[in-house]
Amino acid sequence: MLALHRSSGESAAIETVIGECAARLQRLMRPSQRRVFNLTGTVLHTNLGRATLPEEAVAAAVEAMREPTTLEYDLANGRRGERDDHVAGWLKRLTGAEAALAVNNNAAALVLALNTLACGRETIVSRGELIEIGGSFRLPDIMARAGTRLREVGTTNRTHLADFAAAIGPETGLILKAHTSNYLIEGFTAAAPAAQLAELAHRHGLAFIEDLGSGTLVDLAEWGLPHEPTVGEALAQGADLVTFSGDKLLGGPQAGLVVGRAELVARLARNPLKRALRLDKVRLAALEAVLRLYADPDRLAQRLPALRLLSRPQAEIEALAHRLLPALRNALAGYAEVEIVATRSQIGSGALPVALLPSAGLALRPRHAPKSGTALAALIEALRRLPVPVIGRIEAGAVVLDLRCLEDEAGFRAQLDALPMVAAS
Ligand SMILES: *Cc1c(COP(=O)(O)O)cnc(C)c1O
Repeated sequence: MLALHRSSGESAAIETVIGECAARLQRLMRPSQRRVFNLTGTVLHTNLGRATLPEEAVAAAVEAMREPTTLEYDLANGRRGERDDHVAGWLKRLTGAEAALAVNNNAAALVLALNTLACGRETIVSRGELIEIGGSFRLPDIMARAGTRLREVGTTNRTHLADFAAAIGPETGLILKAHTSNYLIEGFTAAAPAAQLAELAHRHGLAFIEDLGSGTLVDLAEWGLPHEPTVGEALAQGADLVTFSGDKLLGGPQAGLVVGRAELVARLARNPLKRALRLDKVRLAALEAVLRLYADPDRLAQRLPALRLLSRPQAEIEALAHRLLPALRNALAGYAEVEIVATRSQIGSGALPVALLPSAGLALRPRHAPKSGTALAALIEALRRLPVPVIGRIEAGAVVLDLRCLEDEAGFRAQLDALPMVAAS
């Protein structure tokens, strides 16, 4: 038999070499960004792509990808149109704002607003709101790059209206309030109410901007979720501009949305940076389709995956756990014990950081574990190596799969047969 020599001197059969090449090629050609099952319990998981889109948005995005569109074309008079007009009407109707525009993400929205309205001047922010959203979003750094000088006021736990008032001077460009998305300051605390900040800003001829972060368009309490200030509420309390994300609670594609006073939105639109930060036709098509769903609030939780998953009743998730239990026990027989556990899902993406949603899941405990840490790591890795990787979390000596976000039950079951093999390899 023909044999090749490896550097170690051992020989390998040609079949082995061909097999290895084929496997390498397959790995090389596999898409890098792959679909996964998000069983982490965090619904809007930034590392897993945040909100999944409704079918209406998928269809709109696919059509926009495949065909020419009226992206910047006004069909009524055959002249150039404005790309943001496709979503501005909906954003105005849904929030009560005079005007709206859309950019790449909320970080971009904030950069655009700060750069347009406070470049070379000061932006006043409470010390309790100098947020870091993880990864690379840190408010002081964003402000520096936007060309505005940060003027911190108050303390970490308490900031009063008087602190803002005392900081206003000839250098002031803006007052900014940022949603403390991923933490909560508790105990002896005080913050200046938005309505009073707006009033103070207006008395001095300044603009007041609120960065809402997640920014929901509807009152989540109607679906049994904790109340989160809506974009409309922030505007009603006097914010001149409100910035928020498209792919957090709104449930759409990645985008940054700015709504508020027409004169200010127009200034943002004229900033040359707007061109660098603008949205493409595919995401605008998806965003428009998502916003259209908000016109029918009664069916919103059915059609919008983000809201459907967030408001999914615990009993329904528990029933799913019961259905999957035998199949998972069977697949992991000899490797791990499987049992149903009550879990708590998180909303994620900095929305309502401390709110936890009662959920249900499956806890997988490796059976014969010399060192349970390594067995746990091997088990969670085996789940990641499935054809559609399953992403769970390790909690109290078990791999926990929170089933809140599992809607493709058949797809999940279909690959369970591969699990013992993967777990053993
Ligand atoms: C998430 C968040 C941002 C960043 O939004 P992106 O859409 O990720 O750019 C900014 N500010 C707040 C308060 C946030 O919660």
